[in-house]
Amino acid sequence: MTQKRPLVIGNWKMNLDYVEAVHLGQQLGVMLKNKPVEHTDIVVAPPFVDLRSVTSIIESERIPVEVAAQHVNANENGAHTGEISVSMLKRLNVKWILIGHSERRAMYAMSDELVAATLRSVTRAGVRAVVCVGEALQVREADEHEAYVSAQLASALEGLDEKSRELISVAYEPIWAIGTGLSASAEQVRAMMDHIRSVLAQLSLGDARVLYGGSVNAENAPSLMLEGAVDGFLVGGASLKAESFMGIVQSCDDCYDGKR
Ligand code: PEP
Repeated sequence: MTQKRPLVIGNWKMNLDYVEAVHLGQQLGVMLKNKPVEHTDIVVAPPFVDLRSVTSIIESERIPVEVAAQHVNANENGAHTGEISVSMLKRLNVKWILIGHSERRAMYAMSDELVAATLRSVTRAGVRAVVCVGEALQVREADEHEAYVSAQLASALEGLDEKSRELISVAYEPIWAIGTGLSASAEQVRAMMDHIRSVLAQLSLGDARVLYGGSVNAENAPSLMLEGAVDGFLVGGASLKAESFMGIVQSCDDCYDGKR
């Protein structure tokens, strides 16, 4: 398998106000200037209200990081009080959007159908999408995790047009590993990566990068990368501090092309 360029995304969730977000963005900028990263694409996903400030600082200080939104409404515009559209995000120079994070699915009733509709509206606008999938603990204990993830992928990705395909990445995030400090093992991740890649190949999405998320840190990143065979990470808790996030980014960069 040819190694794809690693992608590391920091999901800041509902943390950091705009002042704190700018500060973290600047810290990342300083660290990247002191130790540039060659092979890895870096993305941060701040809360909506921080987006403008973070994109501004990244542009003005030429920080080699792109910005993602954590969610978006599937509709183009109109009477959707409290919601944000893809075109509003595009206007802010947001290049990526996370779709169907398990917290959105579990706490904000985001169904598979809504994930698919959101994906269509994001890719139609030419914005990169990260489709999040992953099973709960009971599903894994019942040994149904592969079927569960296949169904999530098929529902989200079926029928996408040719142009949309190159905009898509997938993040496998077992719910039991998110924010628990209990990462999936490299073997579990490897098995799921193989499974997801075969499902994606059947859907003509063999070029999509497949990330892992769930209690990733600078210590477990190298083995997840090499033995787990991931194309990168979606990072929650460890993305809130510049040192821990950059530790993960650096591990990916070092692992690229078997340097490690
Ligand atoms: C996430 O929520 O996307 C995530 C992976 O969180 P954490 O790294 O904190 O487990």
